[in-house]
Amino acid sequence: MSEYKMMIGGKLVDAVDGKTMDVTNPANGEYVATVPCANEKDVELAVAAAKAAFPAWKKTYIGKRAELIFALADKLHEHAEELAELETLCMGAPISKTLAFDANAAPGNLEFIAGAGRSFYGNTISANPNAKVMTVREPLGVVGLITAWNFPMTTATSKLAPALVTGNTVVLKPASCAPLTCLKIGEYAKEVGFPDGVINVLSGPGSVVGEAIVTHKDVAKINFTGDSHVGKRIMYLASDFVKPVASELGGKNAFIVLDDANLNAAVEAGVYSAFFNSGQNCGSPSRFYIQEGIYDAFKEKFIAAAEKITVGDTMDPKTMMGPLAYMGARDNAEKMVEEALADGCRLLSGGHRPDTPETRNGAYMLPTILEVYDNSIHFMKEEIFAPVVGFYKVKTPEEAIELTNDNDYGLSASVWTEDYKKGMRVIDQLDTGTTWINQHLEICVETPWGGRKQSGWTKENSAIVLEEYTYQKHIWICMDDTPHTFWENFLKDIID
Ligand code: NDP
Repeated sequence: MSEYKMMIGGKLVDAVDGKTMDVTNPANGEYVATVPCANEKDVELAVAAAKAAFPAWKKTYIGKRAELIFALADKLHEHAEELAELETLCMGAPISKTLAFDANAAPGNLEFIAGAGRSFYGNTISANPNAKVMTVREPLGVVGLITAWNFPMTTATSKLAPALVTGNTVVLKPASCAPLTCLKIGEYAKEVGFPDGVINVLSGPGSVVGEAIVTHKDVAKINFTGDSHVGKRIMYLASDFVKPVASELGGKNAFIVLDDANLNAAVEAGVYSAFFNSGQNCGSPSRFYIQEGIYDAFKEKFIAAAEKITVGDTMDPKTMMGPLAYMGARDNAEKMVEEALADGCRLLSGGHRPDTPETRNGAYMLPTILEVYDNSIHFMKEEIFAPVVGFYKVKTPEEAIELTNDNDYGLSASVWTEDYKKGMRVIDQLDTGTTWINQHLEICVETPWGGRKQSGWTKENSAIVLEEYTYQKHIWICMDDTPHTFWENFLKDIID
């Protein structure tokens, strides 16, 4: 039996009440590990440890803070294979994905932001001639990091690095179905020499542990990645404390194919971005708006490619797609497909579970393609977070823009055209935070990532993310012997 511990105040610990929860493999339902199941008492200890560590960490030379973050990145590189395997076992992404992507992206996040943090400046401002005015960047204090399961350690490191390099201390709570790599990061933090209490990692249910972090008076800010409904709940709870919440939430992303698109490129990117990680990417497209002149050709090639995706044993390096992250996610996706069919959609491919010995007990679902005739149905409005897409035929780019924007989410969208001017005109009119021309799901640490509307409004990645973890303190220095107030003349005689 594999047992994991939480990191609180530099110690590897069980939950105060001794409770545990099991992590299971969604590929076969088998037991993977046991982790502590924390509650409010553990949150109290973790926040107290982070609060106690903050003053010294804030005063630590930024070069030293960056050095420790680099040392943590080295640990992740060193343990790349083990960590990739843990991600695969917990959330079902095939080893081809976790090894090639997560095992590199997670330390890459740490390295890029640790470097960028050292050249993060405040401003000087030309105000009154007798004054020197500036803003300096200060850390916030204890920051609560609450993360989703679709890229567990990659998402965690994209929050840890900017929080830590700017001088905050953290309490990290990963998703309950895939907490192992984040618990490992807690262990490594101790090994590479982070001072006790700077990095605390808790496992336990979001409704208990997450909410206790959000509502703790000593937690200065929440940085959350997850579902929009949970994000709204967190914002509601945080509002009682006027606590800022950075939020990377759900999406209903559009993939717009215009008549003059490069067909093969659009099909490759469409199939990849829709089904990579079983479609469980916040930027995965699930609404395809395809112009009528290219519709049939795109549909035919896309279906042929999707039906060749190898779905199966997650530990086989040749497998392209694994199961969904847990049984409930698969059940929910199947229900949404049923509803879509009842709402008049036509099933073009998939729509059922694979039936092979290695997939029979897992949360598997085949890549599923629907033809949609009504943009207002629930399937075209709500995130599905599964390998399911809808194809909708449009007459013009303008129609595609209107339908894309007719949605509460605003995370990302792409447009496919060989005419870049036309592509740019489409992009200019989309209400989405991230956009691509002839690309989709290209997300890297150098570029800012984030949404609009109910997808959230803050940014992850790139040097911009440093702003999320600091406040700008405004400092005004009067260089004269008199501060030159409006009452200068009235008060002069009285004071003299
Ligand atoms: P959830 O919102 O269900 O969970 C995210 C985290 O929040 C988990 O750690 C969860 O804990 C915790 N949580 C749950 N309820 C609460 C609560 N009431 N208070 C505080 N914390 C809580 O999302 P998923 O893990 O299911 O991830 C999928 C979602 O994440 C999708 O909507 C996806 O679009 C979005 N996402 C967005 C990204 C973006 O950049 N915009 C990137 C990646 C994902 P527990 O697991 O214990 O329930």
